[in-house]
Amino acid sequence: MSTSAPTEDEVKLYCTVHPDVETTLRCNRCGRPMCTRCAVRTPVGYRCKECVRAQQDRFFDAQARDYLVAAAVSLALSLAAAWLTVQIGWFYLAIFVGAAAGSMIGAAVWTLTGKRRGRYTVFVVGGAVVLGALPFLLRAPLSVGIYLMLATSTAAGRFRLRL
Ligand SMILES: [Zn+2]
Ligand SMILES: [Zn+2]
Repeated sequence: MSTSAPTEDEVKLYCTVHPDVETTLRCNRCGRPMCTRCAVRTPVGYRCKECVRAQQDRFFDAQARDYLVAAAVSLALSLAAAWLTVQIGWFYLAIFVGAAAGSMIGAAVWTLTGKRRGRYTVFVVGGAVVLGALPFLLRAPLSVGIYLMLATSTAAGRFRLRL
């Protein structure tokens, strides 16, 4: 049996959010103990969810109306592009229409929302692109399906979160 006082390393830490969970991890920004469930891996090390969120809040500066603009622009352009896809009729051309429309929609939203970044822009744009193509899906399932996949991933991909 040792009688020496425990060193810093031997002191048991408990997660701040889950007080019954023992851990050795600490957030490298605020220093609070956190369990593996609470730890978020970032390029600069493990951080707690609150610190990650605080960092994202500074990063995202979109205003509420930006989402409205993003939805309206994506929906209108996607409707037009999906209509065009049906008119063309050749499903392999849907690949080009989809990719072109996707990057056009992405660029238009980016410009019209003042190049502000939104936490939810990726979902708003993706959803609106899908919605715009839906009315045509039954008329040409293959073409519009291909269009949908390419346009959605290209347009929404532009707004994917990168920290
Ligand atoms: Zn923290
Ligand atoms: Zn925890």
